[in-house]
Order: sequence, then C-alpha cells, then structure tokens
Amino acid sequence: MHTSLKTVTMALLAAGMLSACATQPGKDAYLSDKTYKITILHTNDHHGHFWPNNDGEYGLAAQKTVVDRVRAEVKAAGGYSLLLSGGDVNTGVPESDLQDAEPDFRGMNRIGYDAMAVGNHEFDKPVPVLMKQKGWINFPMLSANIYKDGQRMFDPYAIFNLGGVKVAVMGLTTDDTAKMVNPAQIKGIEFKSPISEAAKVVPELRQKADIVIAATHMGHYTDGKSGVNAPGDVEMARAVKGLDLIVGGHSQNPVCMKAENVRNDAYVPGQPCAPDRQNGAWIVQAHEWGKYVGRADFEFKNGNLKLVKYELIPVNLKKTVKTADGKTEKVPYTELIPEDQKLRTFLKTYQDKGQEALSVKVGEISDKLDGDRAMVRSNPTNLGVLVSQAMMARVKADFAVVNSGGIRDSIPAGVVTYKSVLKVFPFGSTVVYVDMSGKEALDYLKAAAKMTPGAGAFAQFGGVKLVIEKNELKQALIGGKAIDPAKTYRLATNSFMAAGGDGYPVLNQHRGYVNSGFVDADMLRDFIAQNSPVKVERYAPTDVVRK
Ligand SMILES: [Zn+2]
Repeated sequence: MHTSLKTVTMALLAAGMLSACATQPGKDAYLSDKTYKITILHTNDHHGHFWPNNDGEYGLAAQKTVVDRVRAEVKAAGGYSLLLSGGDVNTGVPESDLQDAEPDFRGMNRIGYDAMAVGNHEFDKPVPVLMKQKGWINFPMLSANIYKDGQRMFDPYAIFNLGGVKVAVMGLTTDDTAKMVNPAQIKGIEFKSPISEAAKVVPELRQKADIVIAATHMGHYTDGKSGVNAPGDVEMARAVKGLDLIVGGHSQNPVCMKAENVRNDAYVPGQPCAPDRQNGAWIVQAHEWGKYVGRADFEFKNGNLKLVKYELIPVNLKKTVKTADGKTEKVPYTELIPEDQKLRTFLKTYQDKGQEALSVKVGEISDKLDGDRAMVRSNPTNLGVLVSQAMMARVKADFAVVNSGGIRDSIPAGVVTYKSVLKVFPFGSTVVYVDMSGKEALDYLKAAAKMTPGAGAFAQFGGVKLVIEKNELKQALIGGKAIDPAKTYRLATNSFMAAGGDGYPVLNQHRGYVNSGFVDADMLRDFIAQNSPVKVERYAPTDVVRK
C-alpha cells in the first residue's frame, strides 16, 4: 500500500519537482471527516546486530516477522504504516563491521524500511563506504544538517503519500558527530546545529505535508538536560514548533516516561511504555540493537493527529530465571517470535562469511603479549603498554590508563587474527578521551596508582613514567617531562572506566570528555596491522616502577 505512491513522490522529490507537478495542494488531498489510521514503526542504533545473540535475542529475521505482522494487521484495518530508523546502523559487531554492514543494510531493505536518519557511526568508515551502503538500500538516508562543501550531503526529508495524507519525514544528525569520528575522514563535511536546521525546514514542511515527523540521531535527555552532549530531541521539540513526532536514537534507551520529564530508566520489556511529549511533539526511541520494534498507532482526521496507542514490542528479549533444580535458564519476557526463514537464510551466508573473516591474519608479533589474568592484574605487562599506546595513538592523547580487568587474554607470538584480538577485548568498550589540567591529570594518576594488585581495577599505563610505593604515587612524568599544573593534557581510557567502572573517578561528565566511539578491539587490531611485524620488546613495561 505504501509502495507505488511513495515511489512516485520520492522520484518527484529527487527531481525537485514536487510542488510543480503536484496537481493538488497537500491540504486538499485527504478526505474531510475521514479517519485515517497511520502506524509508525521504528528502531534505532542497530549497530551491526543483524544476527541474534547466543540466547536467540533480537536479529533482523525475527524483526521482520514483527514488522510483517503489524503491517498486515494495519492494512487489514484499512490503515497505513511507515517503518523508520533513528540511525547508527553501523559499528559494534565484528561479523558486520568486517563486511561494511552489508547484511544489515540489505536486511533492512528486505524488511522494507521507508527511511532512516544518518547517525554519527555512519561516519566510522570513510565516506565512500557510506556511499556504497546508500547504494545497497532503496529507502532514503536523511539528514538536513550535514553539509559537504556547502551543499546538503543527504536529502533533508522525504514525503510519503498515505492514501492522500502527506507525511513528511525529516532527518537530523547530532552535531557531536564532528568530535566523535576520525577528523581525517570528515574533511569538508560540516555538522550544523540540527535545531537551527529544523527551525528552517519544519515551517516549509508544514506547508507541504499534513504530518511532520523528524527521524533523528540526537539522543533523548530527560527534561532536556543533555550535560556534556550536544542538545537532543527534547531540546529540539521545545525550540521548534510544528513537529508531530520525533523518532529518535543515539542515547540508546527506551523512552518510556513515568511522569512529566521523568524517564523510567528501569523499564522492563513487556511493560506499558508512555512516550515523552514536548511542545506538542511525541518523542519515541526503541532502546538499541533491534531489541524492540516501537509501534505508534495514530488517527488522523481533518488535519488533527491523535496518538491512540503506543508500545515497544520486545524481539525475543529474555530474562534469567531459576529452575526447580537450582540452575538458571533464559526465558522470553513475552511470546517467542519465529524468525522469517527466507531472511534468515539470506543473512546466514553473511554470518558464516563474517565468522570466517575473523580467522584472517591481522598482523604479526615477535613475542607473546602478556594478558594472563594473574600477570596483568598484578604487574605492568607488555600488552598493557601496547594497548595504552594504541589508545593514545587513536585519539592523540598524552597518556593512557587501562584497567587490567578489561584485558581478558594474551596474544601468542606469531600470526595475530582478529579472533585473538577479540579475546583480549570481548566487551566492545569504546576509546574515550578527556582534556584535563595538569593538576587533574596528577589526581587521576594518584587514583589509578591506588588500585590494588590482584584486582581487575589494577592499572596499566602508557605515556607516563611513574614511581609507585605501596600504592602511593611518588613520582610522575608525562611524555618524559614533569607535569605542569597549568597545562592541558589529554587522557585516553575506555568508556567503562570513564563511567566510574572498577572504582575509577567518573570522567564522562567532565567538560573535556569525548567518547570516540572506536571499539577497543578494532583499535587494537588496527594498531597491530599498522605496526606489523610488531617488535614486542619496544613495549617492555619498564616505565612504571613499583616498590
Ligand atoms: Zn549515535
């Protein structure tokens, strides 16, 4: 039902001829006094999860079943539906990353997405890869606020004709993208303020369409308190009048409110979910990874839009329960959803190819890199030093601190595969950095020095020379020089520690905090590849002396 008319409208839009060719102005196209049922389905922050996890949760094949069922139900009731994504299809699962997210984009195509917002992680790989991905899909990537050499890089919006009701979907991308991705890859690309772009585009769309939706990748911050992040959906809805619905992403949470401006951050799958509403705009987000399909059922009559029902449909999410014999098992929160077998077969080829690619050689190392639990949690090791230096190189930092509990395995001498790198870093933490004063840097090193040998918190360092006596920091140099309290230093660490993990000082609220989005395993893989054959003796752990 949404195919032929949609295609026509989009072709006209692409030719810039919509207003010239449309025989009727938008406002006259729907029938007066008729109630139109319009359902918006949505997901966001897919991050490479085309395949279900080991517990059989989520995955595109089961998601397709959910979407097909809802669409059939809506169609049978004489209604219309659109499926939208809040962006960040890329990055997070090695089998996907290694194939430039081809299974993800092609899978979304087969599910029948109608449009997606461009997310910051769409820029993790060089722009030609993104353009290749754009070619794999027959639905638009939308962003009104990304400019390349002064021109919009993507379509700012698409207009869908649902039985005469014109629905505009505008895309927006967080302006934090510029500091989250490798600057070399976004030369000539400008991420303008999505709020000021929306302020320009929304009035235009109110003329052209009956319903105005923003598919955004900006984040939902409760009561508009975005902290160190760029402003998100709540701030935009408050600043720009005229939006009916915001389908969001980026902050990766279910947006279910327990009171006005109070989000329920303990949302449990299967519970009722009340979306946020600001300045007349509904705001929705479906957590991440395809864990849910969000479903918003609207009724449109005589120009008025009413939300009739909203729900987050869990895609085979499971909870752990105790069995009678004292063991545990995983059981679904709600009814089990069968996978679409045709899509499963299609994706299986990619899954197999991805797993095969994990055993491909990344580089070579001259000696063992030591990450054995007993060693790395009590002593500085060559792997601790190499990882720290790889992080520093990735984000141009002056020094790095890594918790040894985050280093899960050694890498034997000789050929290194991606699989062996993933054994070191299985958690998918990301590399973060913080620009801090010399005084703050010294305080942080003191806190790190206190972490007791034997514990996962025990610190591995890079870029510093330290003397530590009985867990007290006695001497510290950064880059071979005394620390100047007035100078600014850049610390690299991981997202887990920055959040206060292992008892480290919380850094992710610090003014100079940036989460680069680079997954630690990918960072280590790239470092080994770039420096191969790696002379392991260069990473001898001699700069930290413990007494
Ligand atoms: Zn994001």
